[in-house]
Amino acid sequence: MEEIKRIILNHESEEDRVVSLSLRPQRLDDFVGQADLVKGLRVAIAAAQKRGEPLEHTLFSGPPGLGKTSLAHIIATEMGSSITITSGPAIDRAGDFIGILTNLEKGDVLFIDEIHRLSKNVEEFLYPAMENYKIDFVVDKGPYAKTINFNLKPFTLIGATTRSGLLTTPLRDRFGIFYHLEFYEQTDLSRIVATSAQKLGVAIETDACLGLACRSRGTPRIANRLLRRCRDYAQVNSGKSHIDLKVVNEAMAALKIDKAGLDELDRRLLVVIKNQYDGGPVGIEALAATLNEETDTIEDVIEPYLLKAGFLRRTPRGRELTPLAREHING
Ligand code: ADP
Repeated sequence: MEEIKRIILNHESEEDRVVSLSLRPQRLDDFVGQADLVKGLRVAIAAAQKRGEPLEHTLFSGPPGLGKTSLAHIIATEMGSSITITSGPAIDRAGDFIGILTNLEKGDVLFIDEIHRLSKNVEEFLYPAMENYKIDFVVDKGPYAKTINFNLKPFTLIGATTRSGLLTTPLRDRFGIFYHLEFYEQTDLSRIVATSAQKLGVAIETDACLGLACRSRGTPRIANRLLRRCRDYAQVNSGKSHIDLKVVNEAMAALKIDKAGLDELDRRLLVVIKNQYDGGPVGIEALAATLNEETDTIEDVIEPYLLKAGFLRRTPRGRELTPLAREHING
C-alpha cells in the first residue's frame, strides 16, 4: 500500500513549523474570530453527533495562514475521530487514493489541502466516494479491463483551498458545508498573540500585542511568526525578558515590516506598479514577470491582503494602485 504523502505548503522554517503546531487551537472554543463560521460549525457538529452521523463534507477557502488546517484538526477532535492529511498535488494517481480511502474508519476526517490542485482523474474518482461512499477502480485496459468496487465507511472530507474559484462546479457542489475565511480583525489577532505568548511562556504587554496585531496582515500565522521574532529580539538585542511596544517597533524595523504590516515584497509590488506601469492597470502576467515571482504567489499570498487593506484595486484591465497606496509609498 502506498504511503500517504504529506505536503506542507508554507514558508516557515522547520523550527517555526514545529512551534506553530504547538500554537494551534485545539477546540472550537479556542478558535478566535470568524464568529459566523464558528457558530455555524458548532451547530453542524452538534447535529451530526445527535444523528450519530459523520459531519457533512466541508470546504474552507481563504488565503494561507487563516486557520483552515487548524479547523480540520478541531473538527476531528470535536467529532472524536481520527484525521488523515494529504494535499491535492500529493495525490498523483487515482490508485494512490484507494489506500487512503479504504483505510478510513467510520466518521474519520480526510483533509485535502490545496484541493483545487487535484488532477481531473483523481477528482472524478472522488465524486462517488463523496456521494455514496463507493469507489470504482478500473484495472487493466481494453478487453481485459475489470472494474473493482470498494465500499467505504462513511467519512468526512474536508477540503481547503486558497482559490475556491478554481474548483470545478461538480466538486464544489458535493460539499454540504462551505465557509470562506476572512482576514482577522486586529482585536482578534491581538487575542491570538496574547494566547500564543502565554503558550510560549513569554510575557508581553497589551499595547505590544496590539502593535503586533497591526503588523500581521490580518493573518494569525504571521502574528505568531512575528511574535517569535520579537521574543528572539527581546532576548538577544535588548536583554529584556518581556516584550513591550519598543521591542515590537525595533524588531519590526529590523525585519523591514512597516506600520501597515507590509513587508519588502508587498512594497516592491506597489512600487513596481507605480514606477513601471504608471500606477496601473497592469496584468498579472506582466507584473509577475517584472517582479520575478510566480503568478500564483502574487494571487494567493501577496495580493489578497493588499486588496483587502485598500492598497490595490482590481479592474477588468488589471491591478491598479489606490490613492492610499501612493500615499503609503511616498510617505
Ligand atoms: P491555513 O491552513 O489556513 O494555512 P493554519 O490552520 O495552518 O492556516 O493556521 C496557521 C496558524 O495560525 C496555526 O498554527 C495557528 O497557530 C494559528 N491560527 C490560525 N487561526 C487561528 C485562530 N482562529 N485562533 C488562534 N490561532 C489561529
